[in-house]
Amino acid sequence: MAYGASGNGSVNGNGRVSEFQVKEQMCEIGRRIWHKGFCAGNEGNHSYRIGENRILCTPTGISKGFLKPDDICVVDLEGKQLAGKRKRTSEILLHLEIYKARADVKAVVHSHPPHATAFAIAGVDLPTCIHPEAEVFLGAVKTAKYVTPGDKRLGQSILPYVKDSNTILLQNHGTVTFDKDLENAYYKLEIVDAYARILLLAKQVGSIRPLDGNEMKELLDLKVRFGLEEPRLKDGGKGFTCNADFLSRVGDVATKGKVATPGGGVAPLPGSSELRPSTAVQPSPMAQAIHSLAPAQYSEADLETLVQTITDQIMATV
Ligand SMILES: [Zn+2]
Repeated sequence: MAYGASGNGSVNGNGRVSEFQVKEQMCEIGRRIWHKGFCAGNEGNHSYRIGENRILCTPTGISKGFLKPDDICVVDLEGKQLAGKRKRTSEILLHLEIYKARADVKAVVHSHPPHATAFAIAGVDLPTCIHPEAEVFLGAVKTAKYVTPGDKRLGQSILPYVKDSNTILLQNHGTVTFDKDLENAYYKLEIVDAYARILLLAKQVGSIRPLDGNEMKELLDLKVRFGLEEPRLKDGGKGFTCNADFLSRVGDVATKGKVATPGGGVAPLPGSSELRPSTAVQPSPMAQAIHSLAPAQYSEADLETLVQTITDQIMATV
């Protein structure tokens, strides 16, 4: 059986990708992961399904930035090492669960990209309905429950999400991305970390404007026209909602009322009043009265001092 390694045309004379060519491409992907700072030290691992029961994977204990084709290991679908001078990564068990669950997947990349991992550590889901690239190329990204790295249970922890997205966050740990080839599995890693970085920057710059119902509908129509799967549109999109966990924590978000869902239902828009944190500090009635009565030339600092002075005087008399 022939497996396409990537869209870069690295095929041999009979149109098939040789095992050595895939190993070379795995080294190249490793260099890109390391240069982008997605894995420090010896962290991370990636693999490629070259045959029905034959998986190429990175070894343990080596920087992904300096791999040579000779370092790549070969395992079967149960994780038994078939070839390679180095020991295979212990996290191959995570990759194998994905290969078993998804016949279409040929490549898996596990990494610790700092921005996306920050969300996985803070326990905040990546929001949806904000950024076109994230909507089209990632979809709704879920976070799998924490399991000790290398443990067999790590593979099982992602199973609830493996059919609905090719990008999953691993709680307190990192990310796993997968696709029909190495290049696309790696792109998803780049996109998820760039999206997380954009969100963190936007939060510092000002308020975040979510996409409204019509903008989301146009985007998802476009995604379908691209031939990309969108599990959120199952059953006519009845259950479609925008994930607002991050936005509700940010607080000061542009509000546009309700989002009309593709299924015709209505979902609360991220940042709408029902999602705003209830912890926002409201001025007391006395402070509001002083603000309304104070001369226009009073600054905010002057008013603060005035409120504090009057409050102190009242407290002293009771
Ligand atoms: Zn890891």
